[in-house]
Amino acid sequence: MKFHVLTLFPDMVMQGLMTSITGRAVQQKKIDIDAVNIRDYTQDKHGRVDDYPYGGGAGMLMQAQPVYDACQSVMEKIPQNKKKRVIYVTPQGIPFTQAKARELAAQDELLLLCGHYEGIDERVLEEVVTDYISIGDYVLTGGELAAMVIVDAVARLVPGVLGNEQSALTESFHGELLEHPQYSRPEVWHDRKVPEILMSGHHANIEKWRREQSVIRTAKNRPDLLEKAELTEKEKKLAEEVQKEVKKSL
Ligand code: SAM
Repeated sequence: MKFHVLTLFPDMVMQGLMTSITGRAVQQKKIDIDAVNIRDYTQDKHGRVDDYPYGGGAGMLMQAQPVYDACQSVMEKIPQNKKKRVIYVTPQGIPFTQAKARELAAQDELLLLCGHYEGIDERVLEEVVTDYISIGDYVLTGGELAAMVIVDAVARLVPGVLGNEQSALTESFHGELLEHPQYSRPEVWHDRKVPEILMSGHHANIEKWRREQSVIRTAKNRPDLLEKAELTEKEKKLAEEVQKEVKKSL
């Protein structure tokens, strides 16, 4: 899978993504990441890519021409038969979720367009963008961190990127539950002992305990997720009890 990040700050994107797991995945050719400098495509002789917004208002706006040409330069290199999407990262987009990451991981090529200043001229967005995605209800100074979040979350779902494919199947949001708590050595730390059950070697009981902990944690921290989770009657009761306790403690 190939990610193309269209940005005014390619170094920021590459420095962030070429470390750790995503960097290793690029070296192993499991994924490819390419940061395209939008400024390289401006026709302005002073290298400008922004201008004042019509109608007035605070700040500057990225102009349509350099964004369009940068996008076209990438699109021209992608074969027709490849599955591709052009994502504009924006606080006005739909919220990014693990389900959206799974959907995007099925593409061959993703273009991520990063805005800066007050954003991008609407006309080029209308021509090139297929998806508008937000990483949360807050406003960042630029789209680079948002694009990096999306690349990271999608890349780790590409087969071979995580050493252990199982981890994506057991962690948070799989089945709409948060992951259970986890412990490593030593057995006692700051007088806190690892739960006995995890030392029992009884795999069925450990799985049962983990599932209960997932339900409890989700009911406490993200009750909204439970609406879509497939729970047994016993688990539903457990979740209700946890939620009652939470309400009492407020
Ligand atoms: N004026 C815009 C608005 O009110 O919607 C905000 C512009 S923001 C200062 C600059 C750029 O940062 C945006 O064009 C977008 O690419 C990126 N950005 C900011 N917050 C974001 C978020 N929550 N999710 C994704 N991208 C974001």
